[in-house]
Amino acid sequence: MAKLYFHYATMNAGKTTMLLQASYNYRERGMSTMLFVAGHYRKDGAGHIASRIGLEADAEMFRDGDDLFARVAEHHRHTTTHCVFIDEAQFLADEQVWQLARIADRLDIPVMCYGLRTDFQGKLFTGSRALLAIADELREVRTICRCGRKATMVVRLGPDGKVAKEGEQVAIGKDVYVSLCRRHWEEEMGRWRAEDLIGFTGAE
Ligand SMILES: [Zn+2]
Repeated sequence: MAKLYFHYATMNAGKTTMLLQASYNYRERGMSTMLFVAGHYRKDGAGHIASRIGLEADAEMFRDGDDLFARVAEHHRHTTTHCVFIDEAQFLADEQVWQLARIADRLDIPVMCYGLRTDFQGKLFTGSRALLAIADELREVRTICRCGRKATMVVRLGPDGKVAKEGEQVAIGKDVYVSLCRRHWEEEMGRWRAEDLIGFTGAE
């Protein structure tokens, strides 16, 4: 039985590299894969997935309202599809995650989703919430904070280089994302100061 997978991480953990490598492994064995990437923040034209270390591949785009089950089923009818890959899965709508589940359950094609778990405010993305709820397999892609601990959170630096504390979930432009552990994320977000511990530990 095919499964629905969610590989989640914070920014710059190498999710896209993993996706492209996994798809390559299928194709190297003569199998066919279908790749999707979010089209929400892209201009029209062909979809494209590129990783930081130089791997790249063409991909289809998904947008709100697209029926991913129908698109994959139609493609599978003339080209046997062995695996479906979704990059930027955090942008999936709830219903689209269910469509992906049906691709696994009804068409027996594994679906591998890669995406961010939370946004810069530490809130789940819509697609990630649905995937965490119903995916068969959850796999964390690990990366590290500047302190060496596991990074699970992300801060967004605006054009002025300052940490954004409010704003849209996704910024289009020159914003930079930095992955941090939870402890350093709270400090960067101004939610915790060293003084806050005084009185609890007796520290001065
Ligand atoms: Zn840290």
